[in-house]
Amino acid sequence: MQRIVVLAGGIGGARFLRGLRSAVPDAEITVVGNTGDDIHLFGLKVCPDLDTVMYTLGGGIHEEQGWGRAEETFVVKEELAAYGVGPEWFGLGDRDFATHIVRTQMISAGYPLSAVTEALCARWQPGVRLLPMTDDRVETHVLIDDPDAEGGADGKAARKAVHFQEYWVRLRASVDAHAVVPVGADSAKPAPGVLEAVAEADTVLFPPSNPVVSIGTILAVPGIREAIADAGVPVVGLSPIVGDAPVRGMADKVLAAVGVETSAAAVAAHYGSGLLDGWLVDTVDAGTVAAVEEAGIRCRAVPLLMRDEQATAEMARQALELAEEVRA
Ligand code: GDP
Ligand code: CA
Repeated sequence: MQRIVVLAGGIGGARFLRGLRSAVPDAEITVVGNTGDDIHLFGLKVCPDLDTVMYTLGGGIHEEQGWGRAEETFVVKEELAAYGVGPEWFGLGDRDFATHIVRTQMISAGYPLSAVTEALCARWQPGVRLLPMTDDRVETHVLIDDPDAEGGADGKAARKAVHFQEYWVRLRASVDAHAVVPVGADSAKPAPGVLEAVAEADTVLFPPSNPVVSIGTILAVPGIREAIADAGVPVVGLSPIVGDAPVRGMADKVLAAVGVETSAAAVAAHYGSGLLDGWLVDTVDAGTVAAVEEAGIRCRAVPLLMRDEQATAEMARQALELAEEVRA
């Protein structure tokens, strides 16, 4: 049986996984999910990316929105607001709240996040093994200018770090990100099963997830990048950048923070040939294929818009085909 490991963020990862699962229904798919986006709200532990994967593959996702539950209501949020209790900018619906309550209760009882995730997946049956990248706490922070503070002695504006969710959801990445820091990653350990899955994998895939705050954060957990590079199996990625812009969201802002141009070729170079063996770019970026190959990464241009499950399954087949080419 074919074993595939996929590093995944939220929407981009989840939608790709749905296509992959339908392209290779018999494969054993292990998903290493990003937990750098996790946030504590109202005393609850919220794991947006793990939940997006779980709900998307489990049939509970709000399809148009791409995150949160279908047929959601917001009574709890309204009641909290009536008490003046926020944040109001993070959309937690009633159905979603139940997930976070169960998760928080289990964590309080002493279960690691990996065990909690497995328990939640027992309900959703995502058809993949979903592992958090780590059981330890990692929180991505973004360094921005602080408009409220006096400038420093050097005349430069003072800066402050905000939680990634505050940057992404409240500020909608409207200000420049000077740095992206996965706080806690340095001392985090890969969750049980992560390194084993990589070691046993036939193929490792990077879906079109955010290269900095999704896949970059997973790779920042000591041991994971090394395990993938040393696994000796094809590592193939799909570009989240199509025609010099993210297909969805504001990935350009966090790419700029790490000094990477917003282009399919630049993202491939950012991962580097030491990690990546193959890279798929969209057909509109066919002109960059040669440059990526010169950098030592095998590259093909194929349609990369996840319009529906069929189109996405075809992307997954192309990625696996490229992996076979690399292997041969
Ligand atoms: P998030 O955690 O919800 O932000 O999701 P991910 O990190 O998994 O994925 C976000 C990335 O998915 C964004 O940078 C988008 O550019 C990319 N993306 C979304 N839809 C598509 C698509 O249809 N095709 C491609 N190639 N990328 C996409
Ligand atoms: Ca995310």
